[in-house]
Amino acid sequence: MHIRVPGEIEAAFEREIRKERFRLHLVVYPVIVVIASGFLIGQSHKVYYLFHRFFESGEGNDDLAIGFVAATVAVVAVASLWWLRVLSRRPLLDTYLYCSKCDALDFDEVGQCPCCEKSLKEKAQFLFTIYDGEIEIAKRYGLGESKRSSSQPPHS
Ligand SMILES: [Zn+2]
Repeated sequence: MHIRVPGEIEAAFEREIRKERFRLHLVVYPVIVVIASGFLIGQSHKVYYLFHRFFESGEGNDDLAIGFVAATVAVVAVASLWWLRVLSRRPLLDTYLYCSKCDALDFDEVGQCPCCEKSLKEKAQFLFTIYDGEIEIAKRYGLGESKRSSSQPPHS
């Protein structure tokens, strides 16, 4: 859902949303690492074979397998951390044309209100979220979902 964020509360609201996202990332991060590592290890017989040949020495197969699993988990852990960092640094709010009379945003950027079809000049900033924690924070600030073109076809 798109939630309109008035300029006067933007800074405080954004801080809380970023804190909430950080909490979510802390929970999601180990899950991503476990699932992605498990998937890669399950799918990578060929990689393991190359690994095996490359390190062919006096070591037993168990050591190699442990090394392979550890290397995969390490690579996945670093890649996931980088990805979450990229996600958490991108801007939180998007700007759209806005109809204050209908509380509707011009999501498809056609320049018209999706409800009353008035042509729009006013712009506003919106948070897009699907997370309950963030929707709860918005409610505490007295903010709710704005209508948007795709969810509210014209002539309705
Ligand atoms: Zn309107």
